[in-house]
Amino acid sequence: LKKIAVALPETDPQSLDAESIMPRFAIALHGGAGKILRSGFGPEREAEYCAALGKALSAGHDILSKDGSSMDAVIAAVQLLEECPLFNAGIGAAFTHAGTHELDASVMDGATLNAGAVAAVSNVKSPIALARMVMEQSAYVMMQSKGAEEFAAAQGLEIVKPDYFHTEHRLRQLRLLQESGDDAYLLEYPQDEKLGTVGVVALDTDGNLAAGTSTGGTTNKQWGRVGDTPIIGAGTYASNQSCAVSSTGTGEHFIRATVARNISAMMEYAGLSLDEATERAIMDQLTGIGGEGGVVAVDKDGNIALRFNTAGMYRGAWAEGGEPFVGMFGDQEQ
Ligand code: ASP
Repeated sequence: LKKIAVALPETDPQSLDAESIMPRFAIALHGGAGKILRSGFGPEREAEYCAALGKALSAGHDILSKDGSSMDAVIAAVQLLEECPLFNAGIGAAFTHAGTHELDASVMDGATLNAGAVAAVSNVKSPIALARMVMEQSAYVMMQSKGAEEFAAAQGLEIVKPDYFHTEHRLRQLRLLQESGDDAYLLEYPQDEKLGTVGVVALDTDGNLAAGTSTGGTTNKQWGRVGDTPIIGAGTYASNQSCAVSSTGTGEHFIRATVARNISAMMEYAGLSLDEATERAIMDQLTGIGGEGGVVAVDKDGNIALRFNTAGMYRGAWAEGGEPFVGMFGDQEQ
């Protein structure tokens, strides 16, 4: 994708309405939310991020346009983002306080309400693939650390050395935080990259929804901290009755507000539209308890919402018959 057209309506840059033309398939993704301001990026870096988002979006769109499943599209797009060092998942994951990586991921299938999640794995190349294995090949929904790694090996998933996820820039962020504290860190990284996650939601031509989310968690996290990413109902949710959601942001708040399930429940039980439900979940409920971040979501009719309360969110969306969209900054900055 060279130049990607902006397909969002000007009146509400955070949502895409299917309106009269109902797309049979649609995909949306994020690469994390935060202080993503145009002033923090030169045009080259912006292009780099947009190209990476566009590549993942195209991969997912390609699968969906050939009648592939939403779950396959989600996994393929998340894996490309895991492999991209720009985002905090897989290669380029944040470092823990101990200088290691502890990766979290989850997936959910909207047709069956099956789900799989892993927390704090350090040597599995693709945590999202492992989350899918947990869903499809085990009797459990969630596995963590050593046990999850043993399961991955037994299933034949690719195991890597822990330094596979290592990038110099993430290590520098950890060292700066640990040695010089928050203020020094923020001087060097005004975008405050302590957070970050990747996530994808999709609707396929069979009408099935799926969601997946993968993260390195927060830089300098301690004591086995686990955020919202592997928590079904907080970081990830999908139901064919309503929508598919992937979250990113201050994980503790997303867990407390059960953001992803809440959006689905507002649609299912209160009859809200995807646009209204994401607005309420992020702008009222999450913001109300001091949380920061956003969601990407797609509903059963192919409507898409890209909603965040931060300055920006790395994001993309593409519905059947429409133009691909990728963006990073908030509405005033588009
Ligand atoms: N929600 C993730 C976590 O708390 C981080 C993020 O999405 O930026 O681990």
